[in-house]
Amino acid sequence: MTSNKEDYLKVIYEEGGLEQAVPNKTISEKLDVAPASVSEMLAKLDKQGLISYEAYKGSRLTEAGLAACIDVVRSHELWEVFLMRHLGYSWREAHEDAHLLEHVAPPRMVDRLDAFLNYPKTCPHGSLIPQNGQAPDRLHLMRLSNLSEGETAVIHRVVEDGTLLDYLERSGLQIQKAIQVLSIDDYEGPVSFLQDGNTITISFKAATQIFVECQNIISQEDGQ
Ligand SMILES: [Zn+2]
Ligand SMILES: [Zn+2]
Repeated sequence: MTSNKEDYLKVIYEEGGLEQAVPNKTISEKLDVAPASVSEMLAKLDKQGLISYEAYKGSRLTEAGLAACIDVVRSHELWEVFLMRHLGYSWREAHEDAHLLEHVAPPRMVDRLDAFLNYPKTCPHGSLIPQNGQAPDRLHLMRLSNLSEGETAVIHRVVEDGTLLDYLERSGLQIQKAIQVLSIDDYEGPVSFLQDGNTITISFKAATQIFVECQNIISQEDGQ
């Protein structure tokens, strides 16, 4: 399998393609590939049984498609952990260079890397790392931009996009930590929240790229 195909499958996986169809537009944006080339590649992947493609809806990952990309996903995320922990990489740098390593590292190297890192559960950006060739159970997360003022939540994951990662890392926000929303300005204005005693303000657009577990919802469910 060429790295190009793996990249497509990986994007479909990352965009939730196990549960729902991922639109061509999303794939085209994520891979920075022209829509016509995306359609062409998706037709091929569909023919090979790696995805099931439905016109106007998009692509879902099949079992075969998952099997074909899960090891690359795992490799990518483990390299990210290594690069940040041991080589002082930034969020963005780790994501970018892990993309190079994920395709060349043989399975035994990835297994030993996993052991060396003491079997991390998540990548530095909060994605759950697959284990035993299985996709991790997805948590029911919501976008930070959908929270209301005063609500508390835990940041679980941020979307892995180079410029966004730089922006978010500069803001000082931390993954796996609780926040309380202070304000969300009208007309998709800036979003401010409190984390670890610091007030952090980010753009509304960035807040749509951050996935959180809302604590209010959990307590409501517990109360039932
Ligand atoms: Zn990444
Ligand atoms: Zn990551």
